[in-house]
Amino acid sequence: MHNETKFDEARFVRQMRYHQLGASGQLKLSQAHAAIVGCGALGSATALSLTRAGIGRLTIIDRDVPEWSNLPRQFLFSEKDVRDGLPKAIIAERRLKEIDSNVQVIPHVTHLSTHNISDLLSSVDVIVDGTDNFETRFLLNDFSCRENIPWIYGGVIGAEGRVMTVVPGTTACLRCLISEPPAPGSLPTCDTAGVLGAAVMVVGGVQTAEAIKLVVNPLQQALSRLLVFDLWDFTWKTIDLSSLSETGCLSCRDKDYQWLNTSDYQTTILCGQDAVQLYPKQGTLNLHNIAKQLGCFGNVKENRWLVRTEVEPGIVVSVFADGRLIVTGTRDPSRARSIVSKTIGM
Ligand SMILES: [Zn+2]
Repeated sequence: MHNETKFDEARFVRQMRYHQLGASGQLKLSQAHAAIVGCGALGSATALSLTRAGIGRLTIIDRDVPEWSNLPRQFLFSEKDVRDGLPKAIIAERRLKEIDSNVQVIPHVTHLSTHNISDLLSSVDVIVDGTDNFETRFLLNDFSCRENIPWIYGGVIGAEGRVMTVVPGTTACLRCLISEPPAPGSLPTCDTAGVLGAAVMVVGGVQTAEAIKLVVNPLQQALSRLLVFDLWDFTWKTIDLSSLSETGCLSCRDKDYQWLNTSDYQTTILCGQDAVQLYPKQGTLNLHNIAKQLGCFGNVKENRWLVRTEVEPGIVVSVFADGRLIVTGTRDPSRARSIVSKTIGM
C-alpha cells in the first residue's frame, strides 16, 4: 500500500479538471513510479512531460553524456551541459527537480543489461522506452512479460514515429509483432537517416499519455494497437494487433525469455590499445549492409574479412565477419557500446 501522498492541488487544477483524471487520478500519478530507459531524445521528452504531469517518482537510466548533435531533439539539455560533460541521467535529475521539486528522480548512469535489469526495474509501475536499439527493447519486452509490468515502445526515424503499449497478458508484445531484433545494419538509425525533433515531441507526447492512462486506469488500457505516423507526409494510422495478441508469442504466452537468459555483449578492453572489443549475441553479420550504414559517417574500407570506418574524429569502428566489433579510440566499454548502437543500430 502507498502512503497518502500530498500533491499541490492549485498547481494541478487544470489537469484535474479533465474528467478522465480528476483528483483521484492526480493522486495516483503522484504515487506512481515510472522508469525511462534511455534519456536521449524520447527520454528527454517523456521525462519532462511526466514530471510536469506530476509523476511521483522517475527512474532514469542512461549511459551517455550529451553532444552538440543531440541539442536539436534532446529537450532536457543545453549548450552548457555539453560543455560540462556530465552524464545525461545526472543532468536530467537536476533539471527535473527545478521544474517540480517534489518529483523523486533516481538516476542510473549505466547500460541496461540482463545483469542489472531486475535491480533497476522490478519496483516500477510502468517502463517508457527511450532506447535507440532493438537488443535493449527485446530485453525490456521479456522483462515486462516476466514481471507483468507494462512498457511503452517508442521509435522515431526521420519524420516517422511509432508507439505501441505492451500490457503483458492483454495486448500483443514486441515479439508478437517482430519475432527477433532486425539484423544489424538492416534498418536505418537516427544517425544514418536523420531525425526531426518535432517527431520526437509527438512520440514522447503519446508515450506520456499512455503512461498516464496506465497509471490512472490500468484496466481500461488494453488496446493492442500500433501507431505509425509520418509528419512530413501527414499520414497517421493505427494498426490493429488484436489477432496477434490472441495468439501470443514465445515471450508473452510460453514464458520463453530468450533475451533475459542470454548475456549481453561481452566487452574486452584490448590490452595495450586504446580500443574495446565487443562480441554481440548475433553471430553472423552482413558486412555489406553494415558497410552501407557506416558509409554515412566516413570512407569505408571493406574487404571480405572486415569493414572499417572512422565514424567521428579519433573513433574507428571495425566490424569483422565472425561477428566481433572493435571500437578504437576509447577504453570505455559503455561508450564503445553506445557508438556501435548509434552507427550500426545494434
Ligand atoms: Zn508476445
